[in-house]
Amino acid sequence: MNDPLVKNGEELLTTGTAAEGEITSAPETALDPGATPEETPIISLRKVSKTYNAGTAKEVKVLKGINLDIYPGEVVVLVGPSGCGKSTLLRSMNLIAPPDTGSITFKGKTWSNSQIDFFDFKARKAEAQALAQWRMSMGMVFQSFNLFPHKTVLQNAMIGPLRARNINRDQAERLARAGLKKVGMDQKADFFPSALSGGQKQRVAIARALAMEPDVMLFDEATSALDPELRIDILEEMKQLAAEGMTMIVVTHELAFAREVGSRVIFMESGQIAEDGPAKETIDNPTHPRFIEFLRALHH
Ligand code: ADP
Repeated sequence: MNDPLVKNGEELLTTGTAAEGEITSAPETALDPGATPEETPIISLRKVSKTYNAGTAKEVKVLKGINLDIYPGEVVVLVGPSGCGKSTLLRSMNLIAPPDTGSITFKGKTWSNSQIDFFDFKARKAEAQALAQWRMSMGMVFQSFNLFPHKTVLQNAMIGPLRARNINRDQAERLARAGLKKVGMDQKADFFPSALSGGQKQRVAIARALAMEPDVMLFDEATSALDPELRIDILEEMKQLAAEGMTMIVVTHELAFAREVGSRVIFMESGQIAEDGPAKETIDNPTHPRFIEFLRALHH
């Protein structure tokens, strides 16, 4: 069965049907003596694999045993040829497209793909809540803005907090306005999306994610649909978020951004991590032959 592709913002905010997996509280990772809390990963992936259309002629193994630790405050730029699995990796992390096998630990909770008894309603309810909490803490911004056309900018930004958090309208509005202010869109709160430029729509999409007060922000080619000048605008916004210490995982072809703002770059190839290192150094001196080839192609 295919995972539901995210077609609009609403799907992002639902807890889904019966959760395809189980979230358990993991014991806090013991720190090495002398280690700082920053050295505990905020996200850990272990042997994460995902196949679409398994067992059919259309079978694609998209993720092949990914192991990855992301640390608080890192700005990880994910690059690689189209179809190598970057987007699926992001969507696996926030469990929009849960992996088939492997585990993901996020903020001390571990998800793994074990089926919950369909008739155990208590367990299913707890699981749905844990899933909602997980997704809320990992804000995601897509290439397409996915704003609701019939709702104002403010209403769009309020949907997330209202649905996923146990708060009232006033509190949701406060969070939404704070998110909009952060991306310079507070003056447009009462506008409808049709009155906004692509760049402004993307700012609202960022504000909508920020209104959930996430710990991590995932950007999936967030600037690809924009004209060059608007692209720079959104990259500046992302740079600002990075400077404030937000943990970010960014899928992009913008190498200048990766070098300047990224703390780390990961080159993916055919569902695996082929190269992983400090952004500037690794982009300037790549070692994996396919990464060298990829960078050369981007420069031309
Ligand atoms: P990237 O982001 O690196 O371009 P994706 O993660 O989007 O790669 O896609 C990786 C592969 O998985 C591609 O071959 C793509 O066609 C396939 N794929 C992605 N999503 C689905 C889906 N929902 N159903 C079937 N195949 C999919």
